[in-house]
Amino acid sequence: MIPEHVNFILSRLRQAGFLAYAVGGCVRDLLRGEAPHDWDVCTSALPDETERVFFDCPQILTGKKHGTVAVVVDNKLVEITTFRTDGAYLDNRHPEAVTFLTSLEGDLARRDFTVNAMALDENEGPIDLFGGQADLTDRIIRTVGDPAARFREDGLRILRGLRFASRLDFAVEPATAQTMIDERALLHNISAERIFSELKGILTGPAAGRILRGFAPVIFIVLPELAPMAGFEQHSPYHDSDVWEHTLRALEASPRDPIYRLALLFHDCGKPDCFTIDENGRGHFYGHPKRSRELAEGALRRLKCDNDTLDRVLYLVEKHDTWLPGTDQSMRRFLLHEDPARVRDLLVVQRCDALAHAPAAQGPALANIDRWETLLTSVLAKRPCLSLKDLAVSGDDLLSLGMVPGPKMGKLLNDMLIEVVDGALPNERAALLSYAEKHI
Ligand code: ATP
Ligand code: MG
Repeated sequence: MIPEHVNFILSRLRQAGFLAYAVGGCVRDLLRGEAPHDWDVCTSALPDETERVFFDCPQILTGKKHGTVAVVVDNKLVEITTFRTDGAYLDNRHPEAVTFLTSLEGDLARRDFTVNAMALDENEGPIDLFGGQADLTDRIIRTVGDPAARFREDGLRILRGLRFASRLDFAVEPATAQTMIDERALLHNISAERIFSELKGILTGPAAGRILRGFAPVIFIVLPELAPMAGFEQHSPYHDSDVWEHTLRALEASPRDPIYRLALLFHDCGKPDCFTIDENGRGHFYGHPKRSRELAEGALRRLKCDNDTLDRVLYLVEKHDTWLPGTDQSMRRFLLHEDPARVRDLLVVQRCDALAHAPAAQGPALANIDRWETLLTSVLAKRPCLSLKDLAVSGDDLLSLGMVPGPKMGKLLNDMLIEVVDGALPNERAALLSYAEKHI
C-alpha cells in the first residue's frame, strides 16, 4: 500500500540507521481507502543527515531550518521532515523555533488533529497514539490535546479543522467545535492568503453547507460582510428562508467549483443594505446585486484573491439577477458585449439561486433559465459573427474604397457589424462592400 518511491525513501533512511515513517495526511487518506495526493515522511535523521543519505537525488532545501528536506524520487517530490516539536507560537502562527527530537511520539503530538497524527510503517502498521483510527471510523475531527491550547498556538487550525470536516464530510467533536467558535478572534492574527486558501477548501467540500451553517460565527470573523444576512427575513413570496439560509442552500445546489461557490456566497450579501418594505408589507431589495458586488470586491481584495478569480466572481455576483435576452437577434446583440463562457457560468449560478427559492417560485425561474440556455446554445451553434474580427470585410477594404482612417471608418465598421448581427445584412464580402460604398 505504500508506493515504491516512498518505500525506497523509508528503507534508505533505515539502512542508514534512522527511524522513518510515512506520516500525516497520507496515512489518513490511505486508511480511508483513498489514494493520497502526496506523501510526507518523518524521520529521526537531522536535515543534514537526510541531505547526505539522499546525496544522489535532486533536493529542495528551502525548508531546512524547519527540518524539511524535499527529495525527488521517480519524478515525485517527497518532504522528509525531522521529528520535531514546535516552540512557542508568539504570533499565533509561526513557531519561534523548532526543536528536533529523536523519537516519533513528540512529533505526532504537535500535529493538529487526531486523524492527521498517525504514522505508518509497512511492518508495524499504523502508529496511532491519539485515537486517530477511531475518529476516522466515527468520522470526527478532534484536536490532539486541549483544543483551546492548540488553537492559541496556531489560529489557522480553526479553519484547517473546518476544511477537513467539509472535505471529508466529518463532524467536529463538540469540545473542538465549541472552542473553534469561542476562539474565533484568533483568526485576526492569520495572514489573508492562508485564510483565503482554507476558505476555498471549506467552500468546495461536499459538506460546505453544513459547516458554514454550523460555524457561521467563525466565517463571519473572516468575512464580516456576510454577517448581516444571518436572520435577515425577506418578506417575499419568492423566499421561505432568511438571506443567509437562502445563500447556503444556493451554495449547496452548486457544482463544487470555487468560482460558483464564492459567487453564491456573496450574491445576496448586499440585500440587507438595500431592503425596503412596501405598503403591502412586501420586501424589496432594489439594486442589491451592485451592492453585493461592492462588498464582495472589498472582501476578496482584503483576502488577496487572485485577479482572475476576482473578475469572474464579481461578474457573476453583479449579474446574478439579470434577465437574459429572449430572441435570436437580441441574444446575438447581447453576446457582442458578453463572453459566452461567462454567460454559461451565469446560467449555472442563476440555476442554483433559483433552486434555493421557495418551492412555488422555483418552476417559473427554472423555466426561464432553461429557455435562455437553449437559446444560447442554438445561437452559438450557428457560429454567428459577434465581433469586428469575424466581419467579412476589414478596415483595409474600406481604405481601398477611398476612406481615410479615423472615427468615421470605425463607426462604419461597427454599423456593419450591427446590421450583420441583426440579420439585416449577410456576413459576405460583396454585400458588405456595397453597403460600405453607399455609406461612405
Ligand atoms: P491535505 O490533504 O490537505 O494535504 P494534510 O493532512 O496532508 O492534508 P498538510 O497541510 O499537507 O495537510 O500538512 C501535513 C501534516 O502536517 C498534517 O496532516 C498535520 O499532521 C501536520 N500539520 C500541517 N499543518 C499543521 C498545523 N498548522 N498545525 C499542526 N499540524 C499541522
Ligand atoms: Mg498534505
